[in-house]
Amino acid sequence: MKKIDLRSDTVTLPTPAMREAMAKAQVGDDVMGEDPTVNRLEEIAAARMKKDAALFVASGTMANLVALLTHCARGDEVIVGDKAHSFINEVGGMAALGGIHPRTLPNQLDGTLALADIANAIRGDNVHWPRTTLIALENTHNACNGSPLAPEYHKTVYDLAHARGIRVHTDGARIFNAAVALGVPASEFAQYTDTISFCLSKGLSAPVGSLLCGTRDFIAEARRQRKMVGGGMRQAGIIAAAGIVALETMIDRLADDHAHARRLAEGLADLPGIALDPACMKTNIVFFDLTGGMTARQLTERVAREGVLIGVSGERRIRAVTHYGVERADIETALGVIRRALE
Ligand SMILES: *Cc1c(COP(=O)(O)O)cnc(C)c1O
Repeated sequence: MKKIDLRSDTVTLPTPAMREAMAKAQVGDDVMGEDPTVNRLEEIAAARMKKDAALFVASGTMANLVALLTHCARGDEVIVGDKAHSFINEVGGMAALGGIHPRTLPNQLDGTLALADIANAIRGDNVHWPRTTLIALENTHNACNGSPLAPEYHKTVYDLAHARGIRVHTDGARIFNAAVALGVPASEFAQYTDTISFCLSKGLSAPVGSLLCGTRDFIAEARRQRKMVGGGMRQAGIIAAAGIVALETMIDRLADDHAHARRLAEGLADLPGIALDPACMKTNIVFFDLTGGMTARQLTERVAREGVLIGVSGERRIRAVTHYGVERADIETALGVIRRALE
């Protein structure tokens, strides 16, 4: 029985082309700047985002942490959504390791922060107050149905921030999903953010790694911060090689994941006992709620016995994510299994 694993796009396995590139990768000591494969990946990433430079890091969490440590001094305040991955799911690293004070604003259903909320939250100069130095956005927004934020929204926030002397970081863990969903290159988003990070290890299917992109000076300082948090990897070209294949071959196919997620959402919406709005589902993440007696844990356990894995994200809330390795037929199978489990 094939397992249909919809828990996350992090479960994707490297492609045969990635394995081959990893085996053949030229490597060196990256802390000394001498790994040609890492250097090439960083150049490709910077070019994709139309930024000066990029830094290869171990994870999306490290990318956000290093970005925040580089942007903010201790005691500085960052404006961030209350459903942001960096606020909820990164172990409080900004506070624990950076002494950075998160000022949370409610994420709207579409993953944005209301502009009036941002404007109100930016601090003036007052001896009592922390300094607002950064606004952190997330695109696509994981916890908000994988919603893609439009480039126009990024521009508005960027203009507002810069008018007040504040910088913007975008957690673009799934920025290529946003790019594919909205039919624009990723650089369209990146031009309206000072720094942007993205993951190779989610929908792009590489085994490890993320990139942080920004100005040359910013990335030079971020390189020091990465070393400080133990992220100076040596012959990292072995994993960077898979990342190059990911960027070169795995972006366009994200459209398939989006189509599969839409089909899954439509099929789920038709089932009694499930509440979901297929309209809010624009990329590869589907959240749904159970409206009958069953809890999310009960349903996930039942379907797991039939080889379908989905994620508990609340007492009666479930998350399912489509990705490389999940085919259209798997979606139909999963729908059948979920339907029977609900009966
Ligand atoms: C997964 C994710 C991250 C963190 O990536 P890891 O590689 O798991 O550390 C950051 N931000 C968002 C929005 C994510 O979905």
